[in-house]
Amino acid sequence: MLCYGLMTIANVVCPPSCLLCRRACITATAVFCDACRQDVRAPSLPLCQCCGAEVPGAFDARLLCQPCRRRPRAFTVARAPFTYETTVRDAIHAFKYQGHHRIGRWLALGMSRTAEATLPLASITRIVPVPMHWIKRRLRGDDPVASLAQWVAGSLRLPYDPRLLCRTRWSTSQTRLTTPQRFRNVEGLFRTRARSLVDRAVLLVDDVLTSGATAESCAWSLRAGGVREVFVLTAARAPLR
Ligand SMILES: [Zn+2]
Ligand SMILES: [Zn+2]
Repeated sequence: MLCYGLMTIANVVCPPSCLLCRRACITATAVFCDACRQDVRAPSLPLCQCCGAEVPGAFDARLLCQPCRRRPRAFTVARAPFTYETTVRDAIHAFKYQGHHRIGRWLALGMSRTAEATLPLASITRIVPVPMHWIKRRLRGDDPVASLAQWVAGSLRLPYDPRLLCRTRWSTSQTRLTTPQRFRNVEGLFRTRARSLVDRAVLLVDDVLTSGATAESCAWSLRAGGVREVFVLTAARAPLR
């Protein structure tokens, strides 16, 4: 009670500021101010049943976006709590490159809620992050995607396994590549460390799903190792281009 009272006094004297724009937040536990919070958006229905992309105006019984129709995915379903734009794009950047752990926790909370609402958690046997190259991890000193996966695993009470997948080589960033280049760039990029896996389903975690190339490359490798189904959970879903 005393602690809460002291916190309230501290918030009046020095209100918490938005982790993105530094404006004052109204509530003590808020990560963002009202203006930044207003730009946070969940993907609007209807969504592609597979990759979670927004497919405006589509009402098919088996609703798939154009890329998923053209090319069947190696993963079963991908979902994300947020669209990759404005506040969420800045938030992911601040978490990955400025080490804002409170933002990471906020992203992970959104991811856990989305997983509970949309994914078959009872069949998932472990949560696996998209792996960072071990040299990059050493150079950075942290692995933000692994942190997200660990927090999500903790809140969903599912086993976390950061060692199941590894990168077979150093690769260039996907950011500036076209979609076909992205798929070529990650071909054979991941390897499953164990063989003859008996997992019914694995939940793969990444920060953003754009073309789905990285998630797909990981999913192929997990399925080649024996996993029956791969579900994908990211903090954000980029709109279809
Ligand atoms: Zn703000
Ligand atoms: Zn799709």
